[in-house]
Amino acid sequence: LGKLRKAARVILVGPPGCGKGTQSGRLLDHFKLSSISSGDLLRQNVRAKTPLGVQAESIMKSGGLVHDSIMVKLIVGELSKRGWVETRGNMASGLCLTGPLSVISKPSAPAASDCPSASFLLDGFPRTQSQAKSLDEEVQMNLVVNLDVPHDVILERIAGRLVHEPSGRVYNTTWNKPMNPGVDDITGEPLTRRSDDQPETFAKRLKAYAEATEPLLEHYDKAGVLWTVRGKTSDEITPQLDAEIQRRFA
Ligand code: ATP
Repeated sequence: LGKLRKAARVILVGPPGCGKGTQSGRLLDHFKLSSISSGDLLRQNVRAKTPLGVQAESIMKSGGLVHDSIMVKLIVGELSKRGWVETRGNMASGLCLTGPLSVISKPSAPAASDCPSASFLLDGFPRTQSQAKSLDEEVQMNLVVNLDVPHDVILERIAGRLVHEPSGRVYNTTWNKPMNPGVDDITGEPLTRRSDDQPETFAKRLKAYAEATEPLLEHYDKAGVLWTVRGKTSDEITPQLDAEIQRRFA
């Protein structure tokens, strides 16, 4: 698919099980984007038993949301590590060596490079108004994709979800089967169920989404960057999303 001409700074928002992980993987592949998945990053910390992972583990197990201050530190740290945001008070140039330099300026946020190589995708962050405000102070995101998937489809999907933990690749026993049952297509390693996909925990995650995350949509709608895509399957959504990214950035 298309090479980007402009920096795409994209957020994927949607209820748990809406296929954010699947769409994110496809976008990375189709547009050679890089991404940060807050859930994958947290799970890596849990596996490595870092202090942050130890703190987050029980909250994640119960289906609640990890505290905003922890999340902001984690994600902003990762963004600056990868050079996607300038460290405050120490602004690097944001220079693009391969294309025209056009800088979006916003009083509260440092200038963001418009160079296509400065494109990135956030999957699972921000998830609360407070996280969104903290992110606004770091960088101006220019597309927020609201993945609108019917409730009954989501419930059915979670029942069959399998993941390859090390990479975050997601499969489903009905919609998106691995080539060989129970193993990852790329590495051949075993696939597992996520412990927070148990029905009770999942119900709690859906509730957290409705209460904490849905209000974000209004925040980004007001900022003029919200775009909603509807579909029952990931395969229905992907072509619409690809076309929108092409239209805006390629
Ligand atoms: P899915 O992967 O099906 O879209 P999800 O969005 O609930 O579901 P993840 O994004 O992997 O799953 O997140 C798993 C858990 O990690 C969440 O239930 C929550 O406890 C924690 N978490 C992830 N991102 C955040 C965030 N931005 N703020 C607070 N907690 C988070």
